[in-house]
Amino acid sequence: MSASKARLILVPTPIGNLDDITLRARHVLEEVDAVVAEDTRVTGRLLQHLGLSKPLISFHVNNEHRMVQQLVQRLVAGERFALASDAGTPAISDPGFLLVREAIKAGVSVECLPGPTAFVPALVVSGLPCDRFAFEGFLPPKKGRRTRLEALRNEERTMVFYESPHRLQRALQEFTEVFGDERQASASRELSKLHEETVRGSLHELAAHFTAHEPRGEFVIVVAGKQEER
Ligand code: SAM
Repeated sequence: MSASKARLILVPTPIGNLDDITLRARHVLEEVDAVVAEDTRVTGRLLQHLGLSKPLISFHVNNEHRMVQQLVQRLVAGERFALASDAGTPAISDPGFLLVREAIKAGVSVECLPGPTAFVPALVVSGLPCDRFAFEGFLPPKKGRRTRLEALRNEERTMVFYESPHRLQRALQEFTEVFGDERQASASRELSKLHEETVRGSLHELAAHFTAHEPRGEFVIVVAGKQEER
């Protein structure tokens, strides 16, 4: 039986632990005509690990606008593609949205397999309410960063941010300025890996922790919504 009937299939890939690839993901990667990949070396290594060999097509932030129509034309002509990013679910803070949108416009069937993504485990282990949440992904690195944060000042849902280790301390500092010292939060790093760790506490405590301990690895920061302070 086919693992998917769709022509374009988004395939989530492990965020650290290679065992997190699903059986269906493997099956789809085996079935498709080609794999559209954010970094062909990274996806090539994954395919090799799975014992598969497929044509790879490079598709990343710097060429997606140029490549998208060409890929859609090939899909319309009958080819089937898997789309994979370096880690996690494509289109979640990764390339993919543009291709999905244009494929849908052209009448191509699109499916996304369920699978690894960093924000779900981080949100769940934060211990903060996860019945409603706002996924914010990466804040703009420079221009518009403060404006985006200010717009969240009164957000009542739990908020989820992606951050690189070298900007973590700055982010925590900015969060204390906007949300206050006592707002509860968590920072998860190395999810699914050997040194997975989640630090929980007030924003003030988190900022102090990462001043004493240099941030290492990739982070998901989860911040309680405004109402949860009561
Ligand atoms: N598409 C991915 C997903 O579905 O989560 C996100 C890709 S984005 C370019 C990379 C960011 O995701 C990192 O900077 C970090 O914030 C988060 N991330 C990815 N893997 C992680 C991990 N193993 N532990 C903690 N955060 C991770």
